[in-house]
Amino acid sequence: MSLHLSRRNLLAASALVPLGLHVPAVAAPLGGPYRVGAFTVTPLRDGLFPLEPSMIPAAEGQAGQALLKGAGFPATGPSPEPVNAFLIRRGGRHWLLDAGCGTVLGPGFDRVTAALAAEGVRPDQVETVWLSHLHADHAGGLLTPRRLARFANAELVLQEREVAYWSDAGARASAPAALSPMFETAQAVLAAYPDRIRRVSGEAELAPGVHALPLPGHTPGHMGVLIADGPERLLIWGDIIHSRLLQLPHPDWTVIWDTDPAEAIATRRRILDRAATEDLSVTGMHLAARGRIGRSGAGYVLI
Ligand SMILES: [Zn+2]
Repeated sequence: MSLHLSRRNLLAASALVPLGLHVPAVAAPLGGPYRVGAFTVTPLRDGLFPLEPSMIPAAEGQAGQALLKGAGFPATGPSPEPVNAFLIRRGGRHWLLDAGCGTVLGPGFDRVTAALAAEGVRPDQVETVWLSHLHADHAGGLLTPRRLARFANAELVLQEREVAYWSDAGARASAPAALSPMFETAQAVLAAYPDRIRRVSGEAELAPGVHALPLPGHTPGHMGVLIADGPERLLIWGDIIHSRLLQLPHPDWTVIWDTDPAEAIATRRRILDRAATEDLSVTGMHLAARGRIGRSGAGYVLI
């Protein structure tokens, strides 16, 4: 999400929670923790983001309006969508997958540290932060309000392509103006952890039983994380879906923050098909639940 696009939405975001707005299943209370064999995976809710149809332009038509209305929202939106990070534990080890917005997207977010504390985990106990990608709603929480490293001992692990893209002056110059604040946050994060960036490539092993799964398109190095222990598996798919309500039935509906919309569509279709075929358990940064993917007409549903 983009800083300057979303000022109005951020104000709405901070209003949503205290008002106790009627929130259908799309943004249901936080689930979890989830057990995956010996792993414990705990979603950490950073905040709720009011997604407007203009952020998924195809949803501004009649089909999108009908979906929003059917779910109890105004036909013109917004729908509240979660921003999650995940705490992953096994034995005495603590890993984080993404870190939420921090303070870079304004008020209404930055609850990951408090959610960690509620789990009895201090930031300095996090040994590694795996990053699905470097957008501000995933990496902003790595920074203090003064843009210093919030996690004193953590190594950051990202896809090589992700680091390269956000470090590339040419990419920044040719990106839409809406993405400019994203570059600022991404570069501030890389600068705050100068000797603690580990680049991986492809389906790298991140820890025993945890593998990276490249899912390019939303950003060049966007990745999911597949956690497996024995027969149990959980795919945390990053930003494959920003709106369960709109994009599962319409996998071709893209968000305005995709670096390569065509690749994002192809990747979304590929991973939804795989999840349905393999009966994978999935969750994500903008999903309020864990579930399995079923086919429905030309699209999919979360079961
Ligand atoms: Zn996101």
